[in-house]
Amino acid sequence: MTSALQKNQPDTAFSFDNSYARLPQRFFAIQVPTQVAEPWLIKLNEPLAEELGLDVEALRRDGAAIFSGNLVPDGAEPLAMAYAGHQFGQFVPLLGDGRAILLGEVIDRNGRRRDIQLKGAGQTPFSRRGDGRAALGPVLREYIISEAMFALGIPATRALAAVLTGEGVRREEILPGAIFTRVAASHIRVGTFQYLAAGGDEDGIKALADHVIERHYPELKTAENPYLALYEAVCDRQAALIARWLQVGFIHGVMNTDNMTISGETIDFGPCAFMDAYDPMMVFSSIDQHGRYAYANQPGIGQWNLARLGEALLPLIDADRDKAIEHANAIIKAYGERFHAHWLQGMRGKIGLISAEDGDLELIQSLLALMQAQGADFTLMFRRLSALADDPEAETEFASTFREPTATAEWLAHWRERLLRDPQAPTERAAAMRHVNPAFIPRNHRVEQAIEAAVEDGDFSLFEALLAVLSHPYDEQPAFAAYMDPPKPEERVLQTFCGT
Ligand code: AMP
Ligand code: MG
Repeated sequence: MTSALQKNQPDTAFSFDNSYARLPQRFFAIQVPTQVAEPWLIKLNEPLAEELGLDVEALRRDGAAIFSGNLVPDGAEPLAMAYAGHQFGQFVPLLGDGRAILLGEVIDRNGRRRDIQLKGAGQTPFSRRGDGRAALGPVLREYIISEAMFALGIPATRALAAVLTGEGVRREEILPGAIFTRVAASHIRVGTFQYLAAGGDEDGIKALADHVIERHYPELKTAENPYLALYEAVCDRQAALIARWLQVGFIHGVMNTDNMTISGETIDFGPCAFMDAYDPMMVFSSIDQHGRYAYANQPGIGQWNLARLGEALLPLIDADRDKAIEHANAIIKAYGERFHAHWLQGMRGKIGLISAEDGDLELIQSLLALMQAQGADFTLMFRRLSALADDPEAETEFASTFREPTATAEWLAHWRERLLRDPQAPTERAAAMRHVNPAFIPRNHRVEQAIEAAVEDGDFSLFEALLAVLSHPYDEQPAFAAYMDPPKPEERVLQTFCGT
C-alpha cells in the first residue's frame, strides 16, 4: 500500500517508463552506478525538474544521493547503451557509454518522453581503459552550455543536476570528481545504428528504427516508406540544427558520429565553445589538430555523418541494394540545399529581413567577409546592428566593432538600400533582430573563469551568475552589461579540452 508519507520518499520522485530497456538485450548492458564517497549537490535545475513532473521537494532533500548514483530510485532500470562511431573519421565498431548510465525515461508534463542519464557514474562494460568518471570542470561546462543553448532556443540536451562526488579523478592532475545529470529526448545516435549495422544485425536495425519512429517521428508511421522518410527527417533536423549553431557562433568541437543524435538535439558539450571574433576556420578543441570540426566545416561534416547513417539504414530502405543506395543518395544530396535554405533564412533574420531577394546572399556574405577581415566580434556585431535598425545614432558604436570603423560605410549603404524594400517598420525590425541576435552567449573566458573559481576555490558564485545571465540571452540586462564584452587580450581562451 502507498501511504501519503511514502509519496515524499525519494523512490517516488520519478515515474519511470523505460522503453529502451524493453528493446533487445544486445542494445545495452545492465549496469548500476558505482557508489561515491561523499556526494554534494552543486545544482538542481528546479524548473526542468518541474517540467519533467519530478518531485522537486524530494530532489532537494535527496538529490545528492540520487544524482550521484548512490541511491537508485524505484522504477529506474540503469543501463549503458551500446554504440559505435566514427571518431575523427576512423570507425570504431564498439564504443558505448563508458561512463554514462541511463537511469530511465519519464514522460514530461507535455507528454514528451525524456531520458535521464548520469554522466560520470562509474565504469561500465564499455569503459575500455577509462575510469568511468568525470571531472568537475567539464561537468560545469556542459551544464552552462547546454542550458545556454536551451535559452537561445537551439535544440539541445538539458542539465538537470550536477553533484560533487567527494572523490578525486586522475587526469593530468588530480581533479575534483563530479557527475552530470543529462536529460535528452533520447540518447540514440548515428553511432547506435552504426553499431547494429557493423554486426550485420538487420533485425536490430529495424527494431531500433521502429523505436525511433515511434518516439521521435510518429508522423512517419504512415509514410509510404517510413525508413526512407525517417532518414530524410533526421537529415532535415540536423540541417536545421547546424544552421542554428552557425548563427550563434557555436563550434561543437567533436562531431563524431557517436555525438550526433537522431532526435536532432545538440549533444556532448566536451570541447565546444562559442567564437568571439568571426573566423570561419576557428577551432578550439585541443584534439582537433587538423580543424576537421572547425566552425565552417560543420555543415559538411554533418553531411558526412548523415551519409554514414544512410549506409546503416540501407537494408531497411529497399531490399534491392542498388535502389536503396539511389534513394539514400538523393536525400544526402538534398541535405546541402536544405542546410543552405535554413542558413539563409536565419541569416536574413539576423540582418533584419523578412522578405527574400536574390541579392541577399551576397549582402550577407559581404558582411561576413568584412567581419572576418576586420576582426569583428560575431555576437556583438549582430547585436549592435539590431540597434542600428531603428536608431541611426547607434552607428558609431556599431562601427567600433570593426578594426577600421570606416570600412563599414559601404556595406551599411547597401544594407539600408535593401531595407527600403523590406516591409517591416524600423522599431519592429529592431525588436525582431534582438530576438535572433543574442546579447549574451557563454563566452569562453567567462565559462573558464566560472570553472576555475569552482575547481580552485570551491566557489560556485560565478557559475550561478553566468547561468542566470545566460537564461535570458536576448534581453538587455544592463546590470550584466560586462558579460556582453568580448575577452580582453589577456583573457582570451583559445583552447578547450575534452577533459575525459
Ligand atoms: P566523448 O568524446 O565524450 O563523446 O566519449 C567518447 C567515448 O569515450 C564514449 O564511448 C565514452 O563513453 C568514452 N569515455 C569518455 N570518457 C570516459 C571515461 N572517463 N571513462 C570511460 N569511458 C569514457
Ligand atoms: Mg560522446
